[in-house]
Amino acid sequence: MNENVLQIAKTDNPDHLHLKLSGIINEEAQLGFFKELPGGKKVVINTKEVARINSCGVREWILALKSVPQGLEIVYEECSPAFMDQVNMITNFASGGTIKSLYIPYVCGSCDKKSEELCDLEANMTADGLELPEVKCPGCQNAMELADDPEQLFSFLG
Ligand SMILES: [Zn+2]
Repeated sequence: MNENVLQIAKTDNPDHLHLKLSGIINEEAQLGFFKELPGGKKVVINTKEVARINSCGVREWILALKSVPQGLEIVYEECSPAFMDQVNMITNFASGGTIKSLYIPYVCGSCDKKSEELCDLEANMTADGLELPEVKCPGCQNAMELADDPEQLFSFLG
């Protein structure tokens, strides 16, 4: 995992601005760009490489999100477990944005191997709620289990 201070790679696409975040969100993270985001545009924030967020980082992040222009649509994709921990614990952490996909931690009950699998919420949503595909252990091929309490992992779904 990337343990450097937060880096943000911006790519301007015709229909959205793409921001790829990597590293640690802490008191040193430069989040001033949030208030300069183009209003009325869609912004996709990829947090796959966000390794850790400390309490100062949480505070800075929430302040930064409060500063975005009105009418901005925010979509979060490939959210890392560290990012999702905060989304699940802090009500306004995603601040009106939509979670599109997230990494879910799995553990193998047989050999203890751990893995993280990308889950697209729309693709896995059924009339009965979220249905997760079976994940096979890369080590011993047994079915893997969720590494955390599903109520905690998905509490953001309300
Ligand atoms: Zn295994």
